[in-house]
Order: sequence, then structure tokens, then C-alpha cells
Amino acid sequence: MKPELVVSSGCTIGEGPVWDERTEKLYFIDILGRKLFCWNGREIEGTITFDQSLGFAVLRESGGVVAGLQTGFYFADFDGSSARQVADPEPGREDGRFNDGKVDPAGRVWGGTMPVCLDTGYGEAGPDSALYCLDETLKVKTMLTGVIQGNGMAWSADAKKFYFIDTQRFCVQEFDYDLGENQLSNGRVCVEIPREMGIPDGMTIDDEGMLWVALWGGSAVGRYNPTDGTLLERVEFPAMNVTSCCFGGKKLDELYITTASLGTDLGRYPHAGGVFRIKPGVTGCPSYRFKG
Ligand code: CA
Repeated sequence: MKPELVVSSGCTIGEGPVWDERTEKLYFIDILGRKLFCWNGREIEGTITFDQSLGFAVLRESGGVVAGLQTGFYFADFDGSSARQVADPEPGREDGRFNDGKVDPAGRVWGGTMPVCLDTGYGEAGPDSALYCLDETLKVKTMLTGVIQGNGMAWSADAKKFYFIDTQRFCVQEFDYDLGENQLSNGRVCVEIPREMGIPDGMTIDDEGMLWVALWGGSAVGRYNPTDGTLLERVEFPAMNVTSCCFGGKKLDELYITTASLGTDLGRYPHAGGVFRIKPGVTGCPSYRFKG
């Protein structure tokens, strides 16, 4: 399973890959570069530049994207217009920003927050962040509190389980999930990640119910079984900081992986910050669209 470099994007923190099944294009972001990229399989055909840190950008059913910025959820388009704020779940908080986000199987956008001290290295990160959900009526619900650094998310195929990575807890948590009520319960640790493997960042799920977890500082993506926590497979990448992954390709049988160049020896890892692809041997879940 040799990773193929597909976009030599040199991102500071490449992140948040989203596959558009309809157009067969890949979207990904650079968090500190504050940019969203659209890659059409040959070249970057569009970008949106934001005026704040960009935690995530996901597709909207009605066109454009929902972005998670420092001051909340925004709608944005590729037409050069400026992003417009939809909701700010942490008004007045200046030491926080949105980090990872994803659309759930019902078409709502979930976004986790984190303190900016984890970007700057100054200050202590406490459990002051949360996981929020924006529904199609543009109301925000708090799904989890006590989060340190909201990161990877995935839902089981039957949507009865939700998996969540709070990076600074070095594990994947599993919750029972009620899709209709949009309610989490019964949280527990399902996968522990030993520190020498790297720290867990973005995540996706395959059609066998196994979790693919990007390992920041670990040069790898790990495939884990959430029922017993075992590491089934480890795929190495030529980048220290592997940030996230999503399934893509016509048959959803490819895995697209983003990486960061931040804090990396570029002599040793010249392609860090690029987007890679592997054929994982399994298919996976699509990237959903926001229905609002
Ligand atoms: Ca992340």
C-alpha cells in the first residue's frame, strides 16, 4: 500500500478532506493558511481565502460550503464574495477557534472547538471546548462539553454509534447515538493510542466498521477495530504530521490523506503538506452535504 502524492499543496496544516461524489472533486483546507482548495483530479481549480483560521469546510446541498472559523459557522462560495456568519456558538471567546468538522448522515454540520494556545504553544489547554451541531434551520445544539481539542468524527453505517477524537485525550471515544433525537449518550473509550504512535487527529470509517485514524507526529494512518481497540493496519506516509483522511474515487475505494508541513524537516520530508492517496482494499462512507 504505497502512498501516491496527488496534490503537491505544501500546506502548513493540510486538513479536512471532503470528497464530492457528484463532481468527483476533492476539497481540502489549510488551517493556518486560511484557505479552502478544490482539486479536480488534475489541478487546483478553485480556492476560497478566509480572514480567520479555518477549522473545516464542508459542502452544502444548495451550493458552496459551510466553514468553521474562529468566530463560528459561516457560509462561503467560490465566487469571490465574502463569507457570511451563520451562528457563533462561543460568542466573545477569543482564545478559541473551530477545529475539525463533518456533516452527519442526516445532513447537519458538527464542529468541535479548541483553544488557540494549541496553535501558538503559549498557555495551557483545558477542557473548555465543545462539540456543536448546526441543523438545517441554522440552530446550534451543544453535543458535548468538556472537550480539550475537538477533532476526528465518524458515524457507524446504521448511525447508532458516533466516534469522536478529543486529541489531547489520546484515544477514540465511542457514543451511542440517536439520529432522530440528535442525542449522544454512554461515552466510553474504544481505542487507546499509545503516545509513541503519534496523537490522533482526523478520522473516517470504512464499510467494515473499522476506523482510519490520522496520526499527527506518527507519520501514519492507523486502521483500528473499535469493538476491541486493536490496531489492524498501519500505513506510513512521507510526512511526520498526518492530519486527516476521507474515502473518495468513483467507487469510494480510495483513501485521500492530508498532511502538514508545520514543524517538519522539509529536507527529510519534501512532500509534507501534500495530499496523498492509497488503495486501502476496502470501501468507505461518502462525505455528506449540509441540508440547510
Ligand atoms: Ca484535525
